[in-house]
Amino acid sequence: MTKRMLEVYATAEKEAYEWLKKSNITPSCKRGCDHCCHMMTAITHLEAKALAKAVLKLPGEGWKEVATRCRTLSLWLVEHNSRDEYFATKQACPVLDSEKRECLVYGSRPAACRFYMVVSDPDLCSPDRPKEFVKAIDLSRVEVSLLDYSMRRPGFYMAPLPLAVLFALTKLGLTGANQKYIEALTEDLSSPEEWFNNSSYRQWTKEDSGTELQNAHLRAAVEMWGPIGETLRDL
Ligand code: SF4
Repeated sequence: MTKRMLEVYATAEKEAYEWLKKSNITPSCKRGCDHCCHMMTAITHLEAKALAKAVLKLPGEGWKEVATRCRTLSLWLVEHNSRDEYFATKQACPVLDSEKRECLVYGSRPAACRFYMVVSDPDLCSPDRPKEFVKAIDLSRVEVSLLDYSMRRPGFYMAPLPLAVLFALTKLGLTGANQKYIEALTEDLSSPEEWFNNSSYRQWTKEDSGTELQNAHLRAAVEMWGPIGETLRDL
């Protein structure tokens, strides 16, 4: 299921770039720029699973480092519960290579990362700059339509990336000491399902999923994006 989801995401991303090229729009996002990887991103249960699978394939014991960072950030979120503060204090995504300023699991990125593109100077995206100067391309309809892929499948939730990835790792069939290691990291944390049930995301998805609003997003994507919209309709 996650393999198919990533194929759809990759197709939508490729077509988005082609559409932008035809429209003479050039995103200023570039390799080595990681400002937006300091935002608190919420992801779906399937996106978390895809990320966790990719994390387990990191060389050596890389997955343990990522899992530990997920725990640290999850604890931070419990204590502060603020997306703005998360960004302002430069909390790096647990799968960001902060030295190279690159995503460690680029091919498995969630929709929120793939479809956040800006046309303004990348320096303006920095947590040190006022956000109102950033000009982003509005791809939200494509993003929301892609999230619908997860919404239609059992076990759906949306939760902060560090928490969701940490718990997804516990469900990937690690054995022995490794499973104990990962479970110990989650011991005193609420699960992403609990987080979702107590959050405003639940209301948002209840209102959107399979309803007029969600269908309107899909219709708009089909009209606006042609081939991408057709891909989304095939989900
Ligand atoms: S998943 Fe990758 S692209 Fe997305 S915020 Fe994390 S490091 Fe950045």
